[in-house]
Amino acid sequence: MKVLEVITQRGISVKKTGSVFVAICPFHNDTNPSLVIFPKTDSWYCFSCCFGGDASDFVARYENIPKEEARKRLKREKENNVDSSYYKENFLLDVFSDTLYAQRKERSFLELVALSKKFDLLINEKRYEEALEFLRNIARGGTNEN
Ligand SMILES: [Zn+2]
Repeated sequence: MKVLEVITQRGISVKKTGSVFVAICPFHNDTNPSLVIFPKTDSWYCFSCCFGGDASDFVARYENIPKEEARKRLKREKENNVDSSYYKENFLLDVFSDTLYAQRKERSFLELVALSKKFDLLINEKRYEEALEFLRNIARGGTNEN
């Protein structure tokens, strides 16, 4: 996956400036965009905190995980890539609403709302594997987390 895609998918907005993109750096207290993304070399660099690298360096730092893990995560993200994510989301949402409908008499309204909120969050953050696991738990009648 491209650095630019990886960064924007994490909700960081970027602005095109000439042949590069700039963004507010998530790694220091940035007010003026000091993170620069270089599409040509598919790399990034923050001129304030002096960190930079490729897509996996960004993910490793952003998610505070080892680079190797970041590589794997990017590989997975690529497999679930943007085009298929639309279908994946719709599929998950369908199953989710069917499941909740089937359980409408066993759960309280507040429970349904809480489950929906949590599920929406997972979908919005494209955490599909967790969303699926969450669905499985709901189907088993679980996830009363408190
Ligand atoms: Zn920075």
